Amino acid sequence: MSTNIVVVGAGQAGAWVARSAREAGFAGTITLLGDESHLPYERPPLSKAGLLGTGEAYSPVFGREDYEKLDIRVELGKRVNAIDRAARQVVCADGSRYPYDRLALATGGQARRPVFPGNDLPGVLTLRRLADAAAIAARMREGGHALVVGGGWIGLEVAAAARTRGMSVTLLEYAERVCARSLPPFMSDYLLRTHVGHGVQVRTQTSLAGVHATDDGRLIATLAASDERIEPADLIVLGVGLAPDIELAAAAGLHVENGIVVDETGATSDPTIFAAGDVACMPLSWRQGRLRLESWANAQNQAIAVGRTMAGDPVSYDDLPWFWSDQYDLNIQMVGLFSPGREQVVRGDPSAHSFSLFQLEGGRIVAAASVNAPRDLKHAKQLIKKAKPVDAVSLADVAIPLDRLPAVAA
Ligand SMILES: Cc1cc2nc3c(=O)[nH]c(=O)nc-3n(C[C@H](O)[C@H](O)[C@H](O)COP(=O)(O)OP(=O)(O)OC[C@H]3O[C@@H](n4cnc5c(N)ncnc54)[C@H](O)[C@@H]3O)c2cc1C
Repeated sequence: MSTNIVVVGAGQAGAWVARSAREAGFAGTITLLGDESHLPYERPPLSKAGLLGTGEAYSPVFGREDYEKLDIRVELGKRVNAIDRAARQVVCADGSRYPYDRLALATGGQARRPVFPGNDLPGVLTLRRLADAAAIAARMREGGHALVVGGGWIGLEVAAAARTRGMSVTLLEYAERVCARSLPPFMSDYLLRTHVGHGVQVRTQTSLAGVHATDDGRLIATLAASDERIEPADLIVLGVGLAPDIELAAAAGLHVENGIVVDETGATSDPTIFAAGDVACMPLSWRQGRLRLESWANAQNQAIAVGRTMAGDPVSYDDLPWFWSDQYDLNIQMVGLFSPGREQVVRGDPSAHSFSLFQLEGGRIVAAASVNAPRDLKHAKQLIKKAKPVDAVSLADVAIPLDRLPAVAA
């Protein structure tokens, strides 16, 4: 049994690795090292209550007393600069070294900041950390015009918050449709209509060429290709994705691709080093190849599996991806992964903002998204896991509860 577990990255995944290792019976020392100054916190509120001002942006994963009870040493403001694999130590920016027998990398990632002239002007912001949310919220309180670059989940949540706070909003999306990476066109179209209905000017197949500031500090954005300028903005939020923090792992010679490559137990190419959360690129039984997921559920559940494995109780992680987003008065959830070309079934009424979309393969549900229909999604998860064949007509019929769908021959 190893005696020292070190976890690099005091975010949601890092906190869960540490806790689950202890709860699985690991009796040695557990040290959680993080470069932020706060105890690990959950990021979803940053783009929701944190921007809307309806609640706390800071939502700690566990209280200080929990770490004390679990005897987890948390060192904040500690940047780890290198892994010395030969000596089995991590090396911090301040020169301190921490020996490990088992090491977990839960370094998450950074919000991407695309390169264009003016990308670092005051008021051109990204959203990943607590301080980012505070800076964006402060600008939103002043009102005016917000330009959101990127029509993924974070961009759409920022646009919704800015509109709700009374700002005028323009959203630029490089692709043909919003959330194109994670949702099928039917859902993208629904989200587009919803945002347009709330007064957001959405421009797809458009990107930014540059930004300059006026004398009074407003931001003038020029669009690529057309040289067109859009209305001066008081806030520009870049929501163009996450760059996983893989440098430590890469410099230490671990196998990295689009993330730190791990096996189903979370072990990297060095069996004493593990990776968890947004940074881990893992195999899942229901999908070919490896996948890196950026979601709250994965940051918790994959990390729990990794913590147990590190404690000597190997667990293969194989959950279905689950994600949610809140925009205006919509709760959007999705489970599984969507792919083009599959049979689709709509249940409920999109115009009433309560419906679900299912994708089927061989008569079985493989992915689902719901809007204000959380019960549908709960049942969809079960139906996907059971891989039970379903009848498409019954699935679309809201009069038939999803747990009483008629049996279909396999
Ligand atoms: C604004 C926002 C809204 C979101 N909303 C949703 C949502 O509605 N639903 C959903 O399912 N998911 C949502 N997510 C995604 C979810 O929050 C992430 O998947 C989750 O936070 C990932 O946790 P993590 O611990 O892997 O990474 P992180 O939370 O990024 O934590 C990694 C930590 O490691 C630290 N670190 C990195 N390198 C080092 C180093 N070398 N030394 C020391 N420390 C280091 C980082 O500073 C950070 O504190 C949202 C994310 C954001 C940013």
